[in-house]
Amino acid sequence: MSHNRRSLAPVANLVLLLAASGACSPGRTAPPADPSPASARPHADLILTNARVYTLAWGEPAADGAPAANAPHGPAGWTPDAQAVAIRGSRIVFVGANDAAVAWRGPASRVVDLHGATLLPGLVDSHVHILELGRMLERVNLVGVTTEAEAVEKVAARAAVTPKGAWILGYGWDEGAWANHYPTLKLLSERVPDHPVYLRGLHSYAVWGNRLAFERANITPATRAPAGGEIKHDASGAPSGVLVNAAVKLLESAIPTPTAAEFDAVVLKGLQAMAEAGYVAVQEAGADTELMAAFERLAATGRLPIRVYVMLSGRDHALLERWLPRGRETPGEQRMLTTLGVKVFFDGALGSRGARLLAPYVDRPGERGVPTPEAAFDPKLTAAMMKAGFQVDIHAIGDAANREALDFIEGVMKDAPSARTGRHRIEHAQVLDADDVPRFARSGVIASMQPSHAVEDMAWAEDRLGAERVKLAYAWRTLRRAGARLVFSSDLPGTDYNVFYGLHSAIARQDRAGKPEGGWRADQRMTPEEALRGYTTWAAYAAFVEQHTGALAVGRWADLTAMDIDPLSAGEQAPAQLLAGKIRMTIVAGRVVKSSP
Ligand SMILES: [Zn+2]
Repeated sequence: MSHNRRSLAPVANLVLLLAASGACSPGRTAPPADPSPASARPHADLILTNARVYTLAWGEPAADGAPAANAPHGPAGWTPDAQAVAIRGSRIVFVGANDAAVAWRGPASRVVDLHGATLLPGLVDSHVHILELGRMLERVNLVGVTTEAEAVEKVAARAAVTPKGAWILGYGWDEGAWANHYPTLKLLSERVPDHPVYLRGLHSYAVWGNRLAFERANITPATRAPAGGEIKHDASGAPSGVLVNAAVKLLESAIPTPTAAEFDAVVLKGLQAMAEAGYVAVQEAGADTELMAAFERLAATGRLPIRVYVMLSGRDHALLERWLPRGRETPGEQRMLTTLGVKVFFDGALGSRGARLLAPYVDRPGERGVPTPEAAFDPKLTAAMMKAGFQVDIHAIGDAANREALDFIEGVMKDAPSARTGRHRIEHAQVLDADDVPRFARSGVIASMQPSHAVEDMAWAEDRLGAERVKLAYAWRTLRRAGARLVFSSDLPGTDYNVFYGLHSAIARQDRAGKPEGGWRADQRMTPEEALRGYTTWAAYAAFVEQHTGALAVGRWADLTAMDIDPLSAGEQAPAQLLAGKIRMTIVAGRVVKSSP
């Protein structure tokens, strides 16, 4: 730790500052500020000291990003507004200076010296696909591997720690780059003879397997490829180890369906990775019946390491019908699983030109993306869910899809005032028409956006949209100026969920190499405070828990994240430093779920 120690605001100022912001106002069940003498005070279970604490309990920044008058920000930059936090059970009981925190210490208290780490309200990733992340982490990762021998060694290393006979799944060898010299089953079968192996290509149109896998799938020289597929053969006419397009399923169908316990383990792996990455909560963007069942089993057995807020998959009509009478669930301090919303799709992606646009793609004249919301979208059922209090989370990327999403939400709200309380969201809100920008604030629709998408799409977004329309693409600042609420997320596993990458993308609008100079469409950048709020305060609002979390104050849930870099100071002075940030501690409902020295 080499951060300069800034002088701390005196505690008296801190108290005034918190009181002025109204952020201390406790939730319904929160205890009042503790007036009792130290001797009569109950002890804290956990006391975190010597931290740079940013409570985020001060006022919201202005639409242009300027910090509130009561923010601990001055000409010299940001100053932490506390040093220590004490936790009892699953609540925060003290926020303030080190010496005052000591009064909460009892014989059983655990005291953790954070040695100058930054302590913040717990981070939230508000749009994730946790099952896909778990699967990705469980499979052998061959992304970036350049030779067959190297890929085989990675699989062999996994085989060494996998019971014989069990399938080994992997992904990421580049079937595009390797198309002229496809790998075969020979070396793979020699090095991995006792496990069936299934290795999906990076672009998902080819798979590569070993001999045992082909035997299990009963693929022989006599096997004919299905229509639209191809079985690669060697000179002798035997299957050589690679299947392409529709033939992929010949091998895939031989992989046994996971048991419930195996399925749960994959989901848990994804959630544990998020706890390690500093997140105290995620919002799952589309759980179907099977994933919901896994979440419920994990919750019932106390195994969810972090909070999971669920958007039910709008494609799973039976699941929606089951949830409709139950209504939106109310989050709770000890509760790890809460169902809030319904996820539906109004278009595709901009990269593949599936985003629905009002005018044609510049680089594909005549095309405007997919014609209507996907077939699985049931407007009646979705509207009924909204009227029952559920949040609707509409995937909309193109300006036409965003307009239709706003039309749909406004239509339902006009119909039924009960639907107004749903804090509805548009997921991505990537390309907007100027006429639609003010509608977000007017209708209370949250723009749920992914800072990394701007950085990852900047190379080609203008090719698709042209110089004019791109001005209202990834337009965080324009939306803020129009009064819209934002929330930030990764949309993992499509992009890196490392929060430092997300913060850097939001603050700099540059890639990891610092390109382009000054940031891409720099007028849309967020300040460090706005970027951080996108993963904390604003995420709390999007999950209906802004009275309980999103800020550090007495009576709030004990959900916190500690990191080795000060994102406000670094973000303001040298955003590139953020990319080296590390998570030190993740605390959920008072439980330490990740801790590193
Ligand atoms: Zn998504």
